[in-house]
Amino acid sequence: MSIVQPYDDRFQSLLFDESRTMGRADFVAMPRCEEEIVEAVKFCDANNVPLTAQGARTGLAGGASPEGGLILNLSRMNRILGIRRGADGRYLLRAQPGVPLLAVRKALSDKMVDVSGWSRESLDTFASVRAGELFFSPDPTEPTASIGGMASCNACGARSFLYGATRRHVHALRVVLADGRVAALERGRDRAAGREFSIPCADGTSLSGKLPDFDTPDIKDAGYFLRPDMDLVDLFIGSQGTLGIVSELELILMPAPKLLAGVTAFFPSDECALSYVAAMKRFSPKPASIEFFNRDALALVEAQKLETPAFRQLQELPEDYCSAAYVEFNLGGEEELYPALEQLSGALAEAGGDPENTWVARDGLELEKLLLFRHSVPETIDIHVERNKKNEPAITILSTDMAVPDARFEELFWLYERDLAESGLMSLIFGHIGENHVHPNVLARNLDEYERGHALFEKWARAVREMGGTITAEHGAGKIKKPLLLILYGEERMRTLLDFKRALDPEGILGPGNVLTEVDR
Ligand SMILES: Cc1cc2nc3c(=O)[nH]c(=O)nc-3n(C[C@H](O)[C@H](O)[C@H](O)COP(=O)(O)OP(=O)(O)OC[C@H]3O[C@@H](n4cnc5c(N)ncnc54)[C@H](O)[C@@H]3O)c2cc1C
Repeated sequence: MSIVQPYDDRFQSLLFDESRTMGRADFVAMPRCEEEIVEAVKFCDANNVPLTAQGARTGLAGGASPEGGLILNLSRMNRILGIRRGADGRYLLRAQPGVPLLAVRKALSDKMVDVSGWSRESLDTFASVRAGELFFSPDPTEPTASIGGMASCNACGARSFLYGATRRHVHALRVVLADGRVAALERGRDRAAGREFSIPCADGTSLSGKLPDFDTPDIKDAGYFLRPDMDLVDLFIGSQGTLGIVSELELILMPAPKLLAGVTAFFPSDECALSYVAAMKRFSPKPASIEFFNRDALALVEAQKLETPAFRQLQELPEDYCSAAYVEFNLGGEEELYPALEQLSGALAEAGGDPENTWVARDGLELEKLLLFRHSVPETIDIHVERNKKNEPAITILSTDMAVPDARFEELFWLYERDLAESGLMSLIFGHIGENHVHPNVLARNLDEYERGHALFEKWARAVREMGGTITAEHGAGKIKKPLLLILYGEERMRTLLDFKRALDPEGILGPGNVLTEVDR
């Protein structure tokens, strides 16, 4: 039986992702192995059918919402395949793309994993590792995300302030190319020569071409990662299913920190919060994450407590606050904790915060509560978007993840605050302030508000381009933010990117409507 089936209503839930971008489809394939991905891709190549890859559909930019053609849903490719030590001694975990982040965490923290079919080397290596000894650091805060989806968005998250984005933690990829050939790429081994690249394929052939003649922003790549002499795995990381389908990954594991601790502090003004954040960026030990919540974000969660029973377990907010910051430490042990907390308390007082009015977590269990609060913000946004969509089906999530260099961040922050206040739109700001990318969100209740939100995002994209930043630091351009990518690069560079994609995907079947915008020739 063919892996490709006609689309029918049973698959309706596969038409959208967490952004609530509604798509359409003609076919569905839910492969369990690489050969079945190849079969589906060859079907699309032969019949000129576009295809959209899906992991767990937690993406916030509409990347996994299909624009017709085939849905290639990879959630059944959910097996961890083995573990080995690389030449440099690091542990490398091999897995299928549909494995949820949660399953990787469980495999490492509790050694809960199905090892059937593992090689002797893998079994021995796994037996030699203690539960909780290793961890995979990327944390897009949504643990149901798949590792294939995370790599395809180059997901960041709270802890990337210390550990970097997903890209840094992927050693190797197997990728099914647009014509069904399979490439096995390893970091450090398979590289471009200057701007010339040659992707070696399993059948002994190769796919060669030239990289665009410009580099994507240093601050965080947007669209594609492009550098001379680059590792070829990096072409596919962050490319959102537009250059190839990730069929297997080898993830780089790290020694797990011995102690997790965190502090959520509240401030009488955004100025105080920004001054504290600046001190935390210079702090030693370097925090794993620095997160921010403005008054609207805190108030929105507080209001949601009345409606969502699960939120009632969240801690009580102090009475007088304007904004809050969460700082997490990943430490070597208790001996590092108390000096860090004492020093932090000094920095807090100096910034105008109140050390008495803080939530402190001294171990992983207590930290869960602070993380639950952090997670409740995007969860609340999701509830609002779902509700607003019932009034106006065209509404999607309106969230940005722009980032700028350190020196320009405060300027961008005040631009967000000023524009949102003047617009009168229902909005909030929260997110990864340590890495200069917070998420202003507009909760549009009708089409007019939705369009005004988009217009603000376009204005900010122009400002961010001028500041030397990027329009998407973690969610990817997908469909919702691709107009912003056009603002960032301009038409000429967009043409170059389109030509580059065509070299890898001549029929244009991969990820229709994602990332790139057609421009006049
Ligand atoms: C509450 C919440 C909080 C979030 N917070 C963060 C955050 O802090 N940081 C962050 O980075 N993200 C965040 N996200 C977004 C999301 O979790 C990530 O983007 C995630 O990495 C996407 O994984 P996925 O498996 O759901 O991918 P999907 O949504 O299914 O797909 C994402 C993109 O990758 C492509 N794709 C998926 N799998 C493959 C594959 N195997 N091969 C090729 N292309 C593929 C899809 O076509 C699509 O373009 C959050 C989401 C939610 C719901």
